[in-house]
Amino acid sequence: MNNLLKKILFIDLIKGLLITFKTIFTTPVTIRYPKQKRPLEDGFRGRHAFVRDPETGKERCVACTKCAQVCPSQCIYIDYSINPETGARVLTKYEIDALRCIFCGYCEEVCPVNAIVLTEYFEYASYTREENYFNRDRLLINWDEFIGQYERKEYLNKFWHLPGIGRERLPVGKRQPNPIIGREESQ
Ligand code: SF4
Ligand code: SF4
Repeated sequence: MNNLLKKILFIDLIKGLLITFKTIFTTPVTIRYPKQKRPLEDGFRGRHAFVRDPETGKERCVACTKCAQVCPSQCIYIDYSINPETGARVLTKYEIDALRCIFCGYCEEVCPVNAIVLTEYFEYASYTREENYFNRDRLLINWDEFIGQYERKEYLNKFWHLPGIGRERLPVGKRQPNPIIGREESQ
């Protein structure tokens, strides 16, 4: 009898509509991405990049191969030659197959010179696999594209590994609220 009454009086329908009506007056839990973006957490691991050294304008990599050795996905490929005069390694090839990467961050943690980093840039969907195969030049461009967002702003990712490098060697200084990625733009 109860069920019959409910059906006749559209009780369930009315309950549902009341819930819908209630949400009109509550704060939305969704955002209008991509116009609005949520702030990222510290330590977010996005697209790979080679930090461009402000002094030399090149990457800092010393071809120690530690990142390739520690990478669980084995998606980092490095080659190098030896400078006959100094005996130092000279990087000749550095590639990351980002589609195989699991973004564990081991490569940036193990790097002794803060050469390879996982930036907070995450909007890099592509139509081809090749676009996510980062070579040395592409990794530097990735850095330029990432750090370009922070022009005239200070930035520091406290999770980046910086032993042996003074703070003056940082690309920029102290991190402020994320100016681009965390900004919520109004319509
Ligand atoms: S984040 Fe992890 S899986 Fe990705 S390249 Fe670095 S070490 Fe390899
Ligand atoms: S990116 Fe860092 S860990 Fe990897 S080879 Fe270069 S210096 Fe070594």
